[in-house]
Amino acid sequence: MIGLEIHVQLTEAGTKLFCGCKSNYRGLPANTNVCPVCLGQPGALPVPQEGPVVYAVAASLQLGCRLPPAVVFTRKHYFYPDLPKNYQITEYEGAHGAPVCLGGTFKYLDPAGWEWRSVRIRRINLEEDPGRSSYLRGGILGSPVVMVDYNRSGVPLLEIVTEPDLRGPRDARAMVEYLLLTLEYLGAVNPRLEGAFRVDANISVPGGERVEVKNIGSTLDVERAIRYELLRQGKIVEHGGRVERETRHWDSARGVTRPLRHKEEEEEYLYIPDPDLPPVPIGGALLAKARRLLALTPGEVLATLEEDGATREQAWSIASTPSIARLYLETRGHAADKRLLARLLGVDLKGALQRAGRDPYSPGSLPPPTTITRLVAMVEKGEIPYDTVKGLILPRLAVNPSASLEELLPEKARVDESLILEVLAAERGAVCDYLDGEEKALNYLVGRVIRRLGRRAVDPRRLRSLIARLIEERGASICGMEGRD
Ligand code: ADP
Ligand code: MG
Ligand code: ZN
Repeated sequence: MIGLEIHVQLTEAGTKLFCGCKSNYRGLPANTNVCPVCLGQPGALPVPQEGPVVYAVAASLQLGCRLPPAVVFTRKHYFYPDLPKNYQITEYEGAHGAPVCLGGTFKYLDPAGWEWRSVRIRRINLEEDPGRSSYLRGGILGSPVVMVDYNRSGVPLLEIVTEPDLRGPRDARAMVEYLLLTLEYLGAVNPRLEGAFRVDANISVPGGERVEVKNIGSTLDVERAIRYELLRQGKIVEHGGRVERETRHWDSARGVTRPLRHKEEEEEYLYIPDPDLPPVPIGGALLAKARRLLALTPGEVLATLEEDGATREQAWSIASTPSIARLYLETRGHAADKRLLARLLGVDLKGALQRAGRDPYSPGSLPPPTTITRLVAMVEKGEIPYDTVKGLILPRLAVNPSASLEELLPEKARVDESLILEVLAAERGAVCDYLDGEEKALNYLVGRVIRRLGRRAVDPRRLRSLIARLIEERGASICGMEGRD
C-alpha cells in the first residue's frame, strides 16, 4: 500500500500565511524577507492573510474536497532553530483544529496509458513552512555552526494527505504530477521553483507495518524512492523477516532510503488550539474569490484539445504547459485547422523553445497570439509551407518572440499576392478556361506565375492551391473584365 503526504508551498499567494512578507523568497539575501511575526518575536500577533487562504480554499475545491464551515488553526510544538516561535501553526484535527479539506476524491490522468484514475484525499492542512537551516562541512552532525535563514519562515504550505490508494511507483508519480499541474492552473504554485514541493511516501507490504520515507524533492524521485522501498521491504519478507514501523530518509544522490528513527522515538507535539487565531469562516466573499480561480483546469483543456482532433501526445504536451495551453485557447477560435495549431504549439514551438534554451512555461517566452494566428492562416492558405514554419520561423521566434513575421519570413516563402493577381489579370483567357472547368489551365497559370516570381517561387504544390484560391475569390471578376486584354 502506498499513501503520500505532499507539501506544496503556495509560492504565488503573494504573502506569507500570517504576515505581509513575500510568499516567494527566492533570490533574496538571507534574512531580509522577515518581520516580527514570522521571526516569532514576543508580542507579535499572526493575522491570517487573504491570498493564502483563498488559494488554499480553491485548491481544496479543485482537488474534490469537502470544505469545513471554518478553518481552525492549532499549534504544533517542537524545538528547532528554524522554528523561532517553538511551535508551527497548523490545523491538527486532534486538537480541535479544522483543516481546509475534510476529505474528498481527486481524479488524475496518467498520460502514459491515457488512463483516468482517482485517489482519496484524507485531509489538507494549511500551515506555515519553517525557516531553513544549513550546515558547514560535516553536515548536521559534524558542522561546528548552524546557519538559519528565516526568509521561508511562515510561507504558506499545503499538506495534502492521501489515503493509501496508490497502485505503484509510476502511479504515485503520475498523481503528484497531475496534482501539481492542477495547482499551477489555479495560479497557486510554480512547481518548478526550487523547493516548491516535498513529498513523504508511506509504503507497506503485506504483513508488514508502514514505513514513512521523508525528503523526496522531485516527481522522478517519488517513483524512484517508492520503487527502492518496495524492493527493500520485499527482500526483508523474502528472508523471513518482518517490516517494522519506521521513518526513513530518501538519499537522492545514492538512490537509497536510510533509517532516520523508529516509532518509539517519535516526538510528542503538544498540540493545542491557537489562542491568537479565531476561526476563519469559509463563505461569502472569500469563497467567491476562491471559486473565481477555478476557471481553467487541465482536464478541460485536455477535453477541448481532444475535441479539436489533437493527438494525445500533442494534447498532453500543451495541457501540461499552462502558458502554451492559454495560447492555444486564445488562438484556436481563429484556426480553421486546429490540428495544425496543436502540432505547431505542442510539438514544434515547444521543441524550438527547448532547443533554444528558453523556458516554455514562462509566458514571456511565447510569441503573441496574433503572430500564431497569422502563421496558421498563412499555412492554411498555402502561402508558406509548414516545413518553413517548423525549420525556420519557429526557431527564430523561440529566440525573439516579439519579432514580426515580416522580419522572419524568408524571401522564398513570402509570396506577393498582388503579383499573382497581376499575372492572372494578364492571363484572363486561362482564368476563364479554368473557371469553365478546364483543369489543365491551372498548370499553365502556375507556370506563368513561377516565371514571373523567378527563383523566389514557393513550392509549386502550395503555389497551386494559393492560385486556385485566388481564382475562387477573384476569378469571376477577372474573367468578367471584358476588353481589358
Ligand atoms: P499519521 O497521522 O500518524 O501520520 P496516518 O494514518 O494519517 O498517519 O497516515 C499517514 C499516511 O500514511 C497517509 O498518507 C496514509 O495514506 C498512509 N498510510 C496509512 N496506512 C498505510 C499503510 N498500511 N501502508 C502505506 N501507507 C499507509
Ligand atoms: Mg505526517
Ligand atoms: Zn513576516
